[in-house]
Amino acid sequence: MQAWKWIPEALSTLESEHLRRKLSHREGPQAARIVLDGQELLNFGSNDYLGLAADPRLTAAVVEAVAGEGWGSGSSPLICGHAVLHRRLEEKLAEFEGRPAALLFSSGFAANSGTIAALVGPGDVVFCDEKNHASLWDGCRLSRADVRSYPHADCRRLEKLLLKATRYRRRLIVTDGLFSMDGDLAPLGDLACLAERFEAMLLVDEAHATGVFGAQGRGTAEHLGIEHFPHIRIGTLSKALGGIGGFVAGEQELIAWLVNRARPYIFSTALPAAAAAASLAALDIVRDEPWRRTTLLAQARKLREALAAQGWNIGPSESQIIPLIVGEAEKALRLSGELRRRGLFVPVVRPPAVPEGEARLRISLTAAHTDEMITQLLTALDELRRFFN
Ligand code: PMP
Repeated sequence: MQAWKWIPEALSTLESEHLRRKLSHREGPQAARIVLDGQELLNFGSNDYLGLAADPRLTAAVVEAVAGEGWGSGSSPLICGHAVLHRRLEEKLAEFEGRPAALLFSSGFAANSGTIAALVGPGDVVFCDEKNHASLWDGCRLSRADVRSYPHADCRRLEKLLLKATRYRRRLIVTDGLFSMDGDLAPLGDLACLAERFEAMLLVDEAHATGVFGAQGRGTAEHLGIEHFPHIRIGTLSKALGGIGGFVAGEQELIAWLVNRARPYIFSTALPAAAAAASLAALDIVRDEPWRRTTLLAQARKLREALAAQGWNIGPSESQIIPLIVGEAEKALRLSGELRRRGLFVPVVRPPAVPEGEARLRISLTAAHTDEMITQLLTALDELRRFFN
């Protein structure tokens, strides 16, 4: 048998379990209406929460930067890849976050995994919410620290784990601020108290909340009134900010340490400077157009209420991420297919991204969705509910 033959076998097992993923192809911009595999669809699948991915102001910023600086950055930031535009964006991110400093990574995934592995190592312990994003989990594993998983948002269990963890050099608590599969918020106030009491560092990944939650759009820590606390705040530029990249905000010393120790920062090419130009423009929009986030959250609340009234299981969602939990993967695929036939794209989330038996559709609402579009979604779901509830 050829050494690689296990791959087609494993793929056909995935296929038979309705768990095989396949790529679709989008033509044209990422927006509320997209063309996917040649079909025009209303798009409830993107993380472009503020509707900025195809905003002409971002495009103009990129075009201007490419004209001035070219495209590639040609080297990691520490060699000669760090452009003035990157520095400007880091300064602006620090100001936006109200923290002394910030550091730009090429993705949110790199920021999360690289930061955790730079903060803890053998002889340390990291506490990770079981529903944290894969990039946080991978950071925990890469760090080679002892990893203690706690049940989702369960601060009592976390307290018990902290009480037992006396023999370690450093402690780190890691959480999503807004959970990506259920759309609920972390109990950040309680986590901050535990971190203080047990002298643990607290890292919050605000990926889905940056630009959306909080009076200034800084995320869940701002929204929950504990902004001053998380020692390490991570955000992404690739969701609400409509671009690409990730960042860490915190004390100067933290940032200096990451420049020295975060492997995805040190050993990977810097983002194109033009990507930084897009995020500079996006931050201005987040500051100047707060209606985008307030309208989005108000629409999301109305949509959650309407879906619950139709009898859908929307889990603990309290945000623009709204799951329709249906159970088996095959059922979720059928529901998504029915919606697609009606011109609506709502992606399926299956194990291993969610636990067995919790397959779902995940609605991502954005500021670009109009009342009419939302009504169209609700009408279709109303038609389908008796087959799927
Ligand atoms: N954190 C969370 C919670 C996410 O959902 C994601 C992306 N899906 C990331 C981090 C990674 O961000 P990026 O897409 O910028 O790599």
